Amino acid sequence: MIFVRRPDPRFRAWTYFWALVKGMSLTLRHIFRPKVTLQYPEQRGEFSEGYRGLPSLVRDQHGREKCVACYLCQWVCPPRAITITAGELQESPVEKFAEKFQINMLRCIMCGYCEEVCPEQAIFLNQDYELTGLTRAELIFQKEKLLEIGGVRPDTIQKWKPLLADPSRSGGRKQ
Ligand code: SF4
Ligand code: SF4
Repeated sequence: MIFVRRPDPRFRAWTYFWALVKGMSLTLRHIFRPKVTLQYPEQRGEFSEGYRGLPSLVRDQHGREKCVACYLCQWVCPPRAITITAGELQESPVEKFAEKFQINMLRCIMCGYCEEVCPEQAIFLNQDYELTGLTRAELIFQKEKLLEIGGVRPDTIQKWKPLLADPSRSGGRKQ
């Protein structure tokens, strides 16, 4: 016959008691210290300048879309989140514009390659990180939405300025 010696329940309760006291004293000590947590979403953290959030398209100070549909960002994007369809501009030295420009935010890993590779400084990663939607389709952002998010970024080079001065050369389109 085998006898099993069970631990004394009173001793076990005693050890729990000291663990409880230790935990409560730690909690009490922290109650009076300054808080390091934020009451999100009422309070929001500050990001460094280099923070990479959602990518978006921008216009210049004249309201001109800066993307010329060169496809570089589409080809460099590691998860293939960008899809572009180029449109042709008639009678204009600016040959192309992005007729369709979509970014699948479900795929985007916010790596910043598209921003780095863009020769026109037309796509930037902003500091927005909130991505919510009720359907998957809502999280595939089209050009209009991307331009709305990106807003205006003043362009110091303004290489299209001569075209703005002469509307007949811009193909009649404020792309
Ligand atoms: S940030 Fe990276 S993953 Fe997202 S669209 Fe740009 S290249 Fe693609
Ligand atoms: S966003 Fe820049 S890299 Fe991408 S197609 Fe437009 S001009 Fe080219």
